[in-house]
Amino acid sequence: MARRSSPARRTHRALAERLLQMSDADLARLRLQREHQPAMAAFIDAVVGRVVLPGDAGYDQDRQESNPAFQAYPIAIVYCEVDEDVLLCLKLAQHLKVPFVVRSGGHSTAGYSVVTDGIVIDMSTFDYVLVDSDSRTVRVGPGAKFDKLNGALNPTGLHVPSGECGDVCVGGFVQGGGYGYTSRMYGIQCDSVAAFRVMLADGRVVVADAQNEHQSLHWALQGGTGGNFGVLLEVTYRLVPLPSVWAWSIQWDAADAAAVLLELQARYMRQGAAPNLGMTVNLGFHEGRQVLLAQGMWAGSRSDGLAAVESLMSFPSAQLLVDASGPYGTMDKLLDTQPYAIPDPPPGSKEDKRAGYIATPLGLADWQAVVAYAATAPNPNNTLIIEPYGGAINQVPRLATAFIHRDVDMDIFVDVFWVQDADRNAARAWLDGFMKLLQPHLNGHVYQNYPHAGLADFAQAYWGEALPRLQKVKRHYDPGNVFSFPQSVPLA
Ligand SMILES: Cc1cc2nc3c(=O)[nH]c(=O)nc-3n(C[C@H](O)[C@H](O)[C@H](O)COP(=O)(O)OP(=O)(O)OC[C@H]3O[C@@H](n4cnc5c(N)ncnc54)[C@H](O)[C@@H]3O)c2cc1C
Repeated sequence: MARRSSPARRTHRALAERLLQMSDADLARLRLQREHQPAMAAFIDAVVGRVVLPGDAGYDQDRQESNPAFQAYPIAIVYCEVDEDVLLCLKLAQHLKVPFVVRSGGHSTAGYSVVTDGIVIDMSTFDYVLVDSDSRTVRVGPGAKFDKLNGALNPTGLHVPSGECGDVCVGGFVQGGGYGYTSRMYGIQCDSVAAFRVMLADGRVVVADAQNEHQSLHWALQGGTGGNFGVLLEVTYRLVPLPSVWAWSIQWDAADAAAVLLELQARYMRQGAAPNLGMTVNLGFHEGRQVLLAQGMWAGSRSDGLAAVESLMSFPSAQLLVDASGPYGTMDKLLDTQPYAIPDPPPGSKEDKRAGYIATPLGLADWQAVVAYAATAPNPNNTLIIEPYGGAINQVPRLATAFIHRDVDMDIFVDVFWVQDADRNAARAWLDGFMKLLQPHLNGHVYQNYPHAGLADFAQAYWGEALPRLQKVKRHYDPGNVFSFPQSVPLA
């Protein structure tokens, strides 16, 4: 049979050869310097995964984060297929002396998984999910979306807490903590990690678990945040049996909202409700009308679940909108796509988000002020969202992981949207006003998976008293600060 080279190899070779022929003007269009040319050509020839360069057909799409407010222009986006691709990327960045970022799902709320004039190491191709029902574990690539993880677990009756949005990926989520409907039952997602497989700055691949010589790295990756210690290649989670949940959602009119929020805070967060009950609460607009919506899951029977939310159903305007039982993944999708949900912003909307933790309870007048402020939103898609803590989250000692937020009532955050750039400042001013109103009740810490670029003293806000130990781990595993971005763990 006649010998044929593979089409993929031919594409890589042709791209590398084209690069070597380029004029200074062509290189400038690629955002490449002349002295970078040979190394980039050799890299393209060697790497297995797809490389997207400026000017390529997909470049403008491939450089996007989930939030189009972040526009950055990398010199290359590399869809890694194998560990060695990651190593080649790290070496290339070092050789060219350009920055790099790692990206799994591209959902960073501060745009930290794309970079201008640097390399995007894209891990979305590492998206496998390998369930081992006998050992009750699952091995997952960082690029696996939660719809894929939940879909793979659905028929097994096994579960690990995951995010509520099916497109968010394991890679960023788990390293920043990871909150979902079942976190009050089984903890923040990073609490369920048996082992992380990681490529370090020097190219070594290590497996970190809670017992081995890399236990400090295991600790740091449980909340220390992505992009700080190495490239996450794989996560092994411990699974719990959870064949079925009861999914529910309750909506109230604005007139009841403040009283319901008071009730939620008093009896459904740090105190009160059984850990089997998890939810998120949205104060937003539905068909032009301000509404409060809580949606969640109960790990148990429908009748016990209904009893658990009885006091929430006692408010005059309460309507039970979702009332269904089934596997977690199916119920998560149902809650996400229910027609009553606070509607998604139109495609192309840009977003800003600020978050804080509430440890000092709000009184009725405070909640009334919150509801009144929310009613003034300049965009009907703006929402205040509450993620109740308590239960299994708060049972983990504060410094047992790098995720320290173990003694709060709730994470509270405000999402604002705009389409036209002319509306951006008004959106941000309204957001700032909301945070000012909430300020007296916040404890000064911020959930590291909802980073905000404008946050003063971000390191204290995200990691608090875990910071010194995180810095020690950083100095050990990344002494050259190779993994660096505007809010990375400072070496000293
Ligand atoms: C629509 C939406 C819904 C969300 N829902 C939830 C929710 O329900 N619960 C919750 O807790 N959070 C939620 N989040 C926040 C989410 O947890 C974080 O944005 C998370 O970091 C996203 O991970 P990612 O891999 O998708 O994003 P990315 O932007 O790819 O990564 C986020 C950070 O991690 C780094 N990183 C990514 N992959 C790797 C890797 N393989 N190795 C090393 N570093 C890496 C990146 O460099 C970046 O700094 C949501 C965010 C959005 C936009």
